[in-house]
Amino acid sequence: MLTAASVKTKALELGFDLCGVAPAGSFPELAFLREWLDRGYAGDMAFMSRSADLRADARAAVRGARSVIVTGTLYNTVPPYTPEDPPPDRARIARYAWGDDYHDVLKARLDALLAWMRARSDTPFAASAYVDTGPIQERVYAQYAGLGWIGKNTCLINAEKGSWLFLAEIICTLPIEADAPAVDQCGSCTRCLDACPTEALVAPGVLDARRCLSYLTIELRSAIDGPLREGVGTHVYGCDICQDVCPYNQASPASADAAWQPRAGLDRPALAELWRRPDADLRALVRGTPMTHAKITGLRRNLAVAIGNSGDASALRALAEDSDERPSARDPMVREHIDWALGQGQRSKGKSQR
Ligand code: SF4
Ligand code: SF4
Repeated sequence: MLTAASVKTKALELGFDLCGVAPAGSFPELAFLREWLDRGYAGDMAFMSRSADLRADARAAVRGARSVIVTGTLYNTVPPYTPEDPPPDRARIARYAWGDDYHDVLKARLDALLAWMRARSDTPFAASAYVDTGPIQERVYAQYAGLGWIGKNTCLINAEKGSWLFLAEIICTLPIEADAPAVDQCGSCTRCLDACPTEALVAPGVLDARRCLSYLTIELRSAIDGPLREGVGTHVYGCDICQDVCPYNQASPASADAAWQPRAGLDRPALAELWRRPDADLRALVRGTPMTHAKITGLRRNLAVAIGNSGDASALRALAEDSDERPSARDPMVREHIDWALGQGQRSKGKSQR
């Protein structure tokens, strides 16, 4: 017999830190996606528009769905640098990308949970399991499953564990007892909105992805707009600022899961050292991590911008070197960012000599 309690117990056994159940219904928060897309906030993420109908209701993804089982997995680990004082010659990489690719790790765990459910269920059922990439607004269902609330920084926040959480879910036709929705606990706090370097949080809980470093350094395949480049700072993949400042993350427990621990080479990498890596080495370094999503030219573009912003003499020297082993650096789009970065270096040198 499959009960909500037995599913949650099994989920914890399989390595998930949180598990709750939401009804597979249509909630008011789901409707905002259309308006968000109409405002152009998705930028070049055309897949969001293409799947908007599916994303409007979990029942569109699985016909006859009754329940959404939502899991949360803590990926907080000891940071390789203090968020308030990142060394200027080091690359900043979003915490979720320091270890193994969560899509692979969590999909295997979710498939194991689903297989266990099928073996235990008295009746056959339809189901789909998704890790981030499915056509579902998982944070909304996570909130209705009681895992946490959607904060003003748009992240799902659990009052005890914070927001360093991967979400993954199973939509199924089984009528599993739902949890009570979580209650918003942001209160009058505005730390995340105040800290965002590019003012991407245009209102509480509303992100203009086109200005967000997570979009600019990961999703965007073309050039980063000139006026936004300085705001990128030394981020080469993603951004954690609006989570680092959140009071609910100050006491977030650290995960001991080997999958999320910072990999050697992604632990405080020096910008100069990262840049000098031949393309084959750079690809090998990020293989099996979420960083493959940015593609090699995206990583080179981001590195060039980060080096330009760092003002680090050693990294700027590395950037000026040409090498047959780094063909991605000769891509015209990347080349334009290199030229911008070297110009930034000249400007900051000029200022320091005045
Ligand atoms: S991830 Fe960074 S750029 Fe994006 S909203 Fe948060 S602080 Fe702003
Ligand atoms: S920083 Fe404050 S306002 Fe922003 S998500 Fe955290 S609690 Fe909410």
